[in-house]
Amino acid sequence: MVDVIIIGGGPAGMSAALNLLRAGHSVLILEKENFGGQIANSPRVENIPGIKDISGLEFSNNLFEQILALGAKFELEEVTRVMKVNETFDVTTKYRSYQSRAVILANGVKHRKMNLPNEEDFIGKGISYCAVCDGAFYKDEDTYLIGDANTALQYALMLSNTSTNVYVFTLFDRFFADQILIDRLRERTNVHVTHNMNCIAFLGKNELAGLRFKNTKDHTIHDYPTNNVFIAIGQVPQNDIFKALVQTDERGFIVTNERMETSLSGFFAIGDTRKKDVCQLANAFGDASIASVFVDKYLHTH
Ligand SMILES: Cc1cc2nc3c(=O)[nH]c(=O)nc-3n(C[C@H](O)[C@H](O)[C@H](O)COP(=O)(O)OP(=O)(O)OC[C@H]3O[C@@H](n4cnc5c(N)ncnc54)[C@H](O)[C@@H]3O)c2cc1C
Repeated sequence: MVDVIIIGGGPAGMSAALNLLRAGHSVLILEKENFGGQIANSPRVENIPGIKDISGLEFSNNLFEQILALGAKFELEEVTRVMKVNETFDVTTKYRSYQSRAVILANGVKHRKMNLPNEEDFIGKGISYCAVCDGAFYKDEDTYLIGDANTALQYALMLSNTSTNVYVFTLFDRFFADQILIDRLRERTNVHVTHNMNCIAFLGKNELAGLRFKNTKDHTIHDYPTNNVFIAIGQVPQNDIFKALVQTDERGFIVTNERMETSLSGFFAIGDTRKKDVCQLANAFGDASIASVFVDKYLHTH
């Protein structure tokens, strides 16, 4: 039995652990993949106040070391169910169950998929959602990227350092990213952007061999032979297992109040998993800080 179980070891979960450990509570973090969450896949983070420039992986490692030094307990296990029995939470993973007095859900989001035929089959065979992980496979080759927001532009910039050319396709007629990233992308002579292009098929038999786009303005069809494509078209929640437990919105994000409390007493939600308008590191840290205060109050009154 610990005071708090945190589900997810991304920036939000680890920040909450940092605050709660400093407040003297026992904390167990359950992480299904890698500590760091999404930001570990970011080549370069420049919007953490006080830190000019850091790779997402270095930032994640620093935060992980910081909470380990404070005595955080962790397990690399995926949470599959949460139940509340009387005042105790029972948190089940694929291997066992853990008990706590409060729970913080910080399970973030996962990559949005195109939902086209062949997509699942071609993952790892040409289709990737992570340029940091897979970009090096295509050094000195042409690379292809679909997406129009911050992550897509960060990926395009990174790929342009090692690829011969980067071909970027967006669905609409513009980017939806920070201006500083758009300006940097425009400076790269080996990045070629085509707007108004809807990817309608992944071509190939056993692996990716090409992309088929439909121009959304003139409806012409264009095929591009390629052995790779990086997809960065946004994120979706992964809250199906919590829908019976707490209130979610129509898209599946967890509904909280300003104290990060969900509809179930003692069960808090923070970071990208919760319903909100801005999903960035600063918001994850802020959510974690607020939740820690009210988890602490909850633990003192229950
Ligand atoms: C490529 C990229 C670059 C970015 N760059 C920036 C940037 O420069 N600046 C910025 O402010 N933001 C950036 N972001 C956004 C930022 O990374 C997110 O807002 C932030 O990571 C959200 O943190 P989180 O902890 O809420 O969720 P996540 O980072 O998604 O972490 C959630 C964690 O929970 C784990 N998890 C999920 N389900 C379970 C389960 N059932 N059991 C156990 N563990 C589970 C996941 O494995 C994951 O580690 C970027 C995002 C991406 C993808």
